[in-house]
Amino acid sequence: MNKINKLVNEFECKKCGKCCNKYGRIEIRFSDVERIEKAPVDSYGIIYDKSGIPHLVTKDDGSCYYYDEVYGCGIHRYKPMDCKIYPYMLYDGWFWRKTCLKERETEEYKAEKLFLITEQEKENEELRDWQYEGCMTKQTIKNKNMEEKKL
Ligand code: SF4
Ligand code: SF4
Repeated sequence: MNKINKLVNEFECKKCGKCCNKYGRIEIRFSDVERIEKAPVDSYGIIYDKSGIPHLVTKDDGSCYYYDEVYGCGIHRYKPMDCKIYPYMLYDGWFWRKTCLKERETEEYKAEKLFLITEQEKENEELRDWQYEGCMTKQTIKNKNMEEKKL
């Protein structure tokens, strides 16, 4: 298990649900869309903004379309990589740790750069999708999504 899996697995989530019912708009990637479309649920939870960026639909109460108070994430096995690794994130080729919404009740928000993503880490089978795209800048992801949309 590489250090990314180790960190993600070792994070002690309190399962409060705040990141699913209070986070607000969650941008996702086309690879996430493809995966969610294979889930045994409807795909009305995905919407595109004017720039062609897909994101999860937020319900009127602020929760994610796929969130259920009793059952949790309705697309657990298929959920977006950003959800899977939260409160870690990949941005600009770096692996980051930010404070999750629960932690923010008692701590100041912070986002800390942990390490650069290496070629070896990009080979990680389970996390390949987000590692590949996450190493791009947001603008590059946007361009890539637009290109994919035109295909
Ligand atoms: S806000 Fe933090 S503790 Fe609560 S479910 Fe999300 S990751 Fe877990
Ligand atoms: S897709 Fe699942 S894990 Fe992600 S915000 Fe929605 S309910 Fe939460």
